[in-house]
Amino acid sequence: MDAPIVVLTGAGVSAESGIPTFRGKEGYWTVGSREYHPQELATHAAFTRMPWDVWAWYLHRRAVCRRAEPNAAHKALARLPCDLITQNVDGLHRRAGSRPYAIHGDIDHMRCANDCCLDIFAMPEEITDPKAELRCPRCGGMARPHVLWFDESYDEPRFFLETSRRLAAQARTLIVAGTSAQTNLPWQIVTLAVRAGATVIDINIEDNPFGDVATRVIRAPAAEAIPAIVAGHLQPD
Ligand code: NAD
Repeated sequence: MDAPIVVLTGAGVSAESGIPTFRGKEGYWTVGSREYHPQELATHAAFTRMPWDVWAWYLHRRAVCRRAEPNAAHKALARLPCDLITQNVDGLHRRAGSRPYAIHGDIDHMRCANDCCLDIFAMPEEITDPKAELRCPRCGGMARPHVLWFDESYDEPRFFLETSRRLAAQARTLIVAGTSAQTNLPWQIVTLAVRAGATVIDINIEDNPFGDVATRVIRAPAAEAIPAIVAGHLQPD
């Protein structure tokens, strides 16, 4: 039997589809006279203080994601027999034909802001009146984007915490692509795979902390490197 391949993707994999990462200037958003960094807006604290401004940012980002198309990296991964874990909320892996574990959620989905249930709902296609339409279908209270915010914790039912850890601990090969190593679960995934003796391949256009622990470092855009690996031009191990 082939060794299990686990792939962990981050915002860099969607950069070539035209979706900004959180590092560039395009990530900022203006509310009133103030410019907010994504790390300030993508928080439960910001949503509590100004829910409709945070929703406006998410609706804008959702529109960017829906206009974007999967690139060669998403398409190649859809052909690779692997377990795919993604930090991306843009839905591009799904649209390319993969069924990823979306550990930071999905920008096309919403859930109850008051946690009346664990259900996750597809957002309406067109939204003309956010305050009326962004409601929990179960209790009628305010809905929130189904994403993991920076001041929130991972869990299994919504964000596949245990599943990701288990897959990492069993991986023989872990491909990490387009992520800057700044979030907690990705660190755990890479650490567990390293401890298990997996071959770890870091694909990124820049040096990053995952490169320090990787068995193999590829400094190239994901849309070039991933199809090459999948095609067998670059053997994973
Ligand atoms: P990040 O923005 O912190 O870092 C992106 C990483 O991708 C960087 O290390 C950068 O060097 C690399 N990169 C940029 N272009 C690349 C390319 N063409 N090929 C390969 N690598 C490239 O992103 P992150 O580490 O994923 O963490 C930020 C969090 O913000 C994510 O977990 C996610 O939830 C959210 N986010 C999601 C999206 C999306 O869904 N597309 C976009 C922005 C942010």
